[in-house]
Amino acid sequence: MYKIGIDLGGTKIEGILVDEKYNTIHRKRVETHQENGYDSIVKSITSLVNELKAKTNEEISVGICTPGVTNANSGLIKNSNTQCLIGMPLKNDIENVLEHEIIMENDANCFALAESLIGSAKGYDTVFGVIMGTGVGGGIVINGTIHKGRTNIAGEWGHHTLHPNGNECYCGKQGCVETYISGPALEKRWFEITGKKESLQSIVQDLSDEKAKQWKKEFLENFGTGLANVIDILDPDIIILGGGVSNIPFLYDQGKKAVYDKVFSDSIETPILKNSLGDSSGVFGACLLNR
Ligand SMILES: [Zn+2]
Repeated sequence: MYKIGIDLGGTKIEGILVDEKYNTIHRKRVETHQENGYDSIVKSITSLVNELKAKTNEEISVGICTPGVTNANSGLIKNSNTQCLIGMPLKNDIENVLEHEIIMENDANCFALAESLIGSAKGYDTVFGVIMGTGVGGGIVINGTIHKGRTNIAGEWGHHTLHPNGNECYCGKQGCVETYISGPALEKRWFEITGKKESLQSIVQDLSDEKAKQWKKEFLENFGTGLANVIDILDPDIIILGGGVSNIPFLYDQGKKAVYDKVFSDSIETPILKNSLGDSSGVFGACLLNR
């Protein structure tokens, strides 16, 4: 059976058709156009699936990677940064148009699945996949299977509390991990400390002065506490970092040390590695949902 994987993102929808060995047969990107609303997104996804389907005579399966979580009971999307999806029965609506069953999973889980089966975490049993980008999320894969949890929120470490009474979060709580170590949060903190509006990429080019050192110290502290908490509970065999923030090299030495310093163990060697699939983890993770 061939597989179709769709990665629904805030700006782009990407689709891929692969054969049994995950060789790419066809791949295509279209714009999401959130401003045109929910129905237009459903139409873009189903058109893309049909276009990919037409490239083969084989039987196909369809997996879709989405921002946000599908509520286990109601089937409605929640916690999505693509706002027009919230409260909508996306899976149902796509299945009705396609007349084909699909599997849908959130992007952090797809990331963790793809990295654990064909990426940096291949060969490790318990994998914690971290996304640090516009938001902060995570997914847990155990022996090749996504661990969803009773309410489909397992791995959502971006909204556990680092600092009670800390930064306000859109989720309604204060001090969430995401409000400290997402890309926008790090840039905002840089502006507060230095008065300069800069991209994360440019910020990390030179961290030699005192203000920059303070920014980095706080960043490492928050990153360390956040992931140490995860290790204390899950004790994964490996942690894989993804998202734009994962491109910062010092996370893999000084960052790792900051985590180790806070873990409740004097002998820790959990690898913390960069992802190897980059932006492709979404489409491949979506394909891998059907195994
Ligand atoms: Zn939050």
